[in-house]
Amino acid sequence: MRPESLKWIEAAKVLAADPEAKVHCPKNEDEFLEVHDVPNPADPDQFERHLICPGCGATNILLMRKS
Ligand SMILES: [Zn+2]
Repeated sequence: MRPESLKWIEAAKVLAADPEAKVHCPKNEDEFLEVHDVPNPADPDQFERHLICPGCGATNILLMRKS
């Protein structure tokens, strides 16, 4: 696995637990990741958590389940 993938997994773990956490972009470490929660209209019990770097545009999407 590429180091970048491992960093995304680590970032996802941190931001799944705390969406306010400051996590550097796993791709270029240029900016802190922005977090946007997007509802899933097909399943109200789930939503997508989009992790987006405002610097380079790197994006990762987590599927979250509402607790
Ligand atoms: Zn970036």
